Amino acid sequence: MKVILRRVKKTPLDFEVKSDEITFKGYLQYHSGKLILLQANLKGSLFKSCDICAEEFKLLLDEDIEFYISDGVYEDENNIELDVVESLDGSVEIEELLNSEIELIRSDYHSCDECKHSN
Ligand SMILES: [Zn+2]
Repeated sequence: MKVILRRVKKTPLDFEVKSDEITFKGYLQYHSGKLILLQANLKGSLFKSCDICAEEFKLLLDEDIEFYISDGVYEDENNIELDVVESLDGSVEIEELLNSEIELIRSDYHSCDECKHSN
């Protein structure tokens, strides 16, 4: 699902995309300046190898995600540290945002239930 950023207004624009076992559902809403707010919930599961025993296990996900998308290069003039993703072509692909969230989750530290419980 491709979204043209300048078409995002104050009225929330709902989206829902899926990737394998994961549903990414939320909305985009114009914030201010070049910024568009993204609020979403990421729910489902993925297979990952445990960081302790290296066994594959199913990681259950239910995370609320919030960040801003900047239509163009973002300059933090007011020094408010926002979580901003820049778009340089005036659009975003929701599936790409989902994929980068999944990558972030994969790169986090996770251990399987057995390792968790043996601590
Ligand atoms: Zn383990």
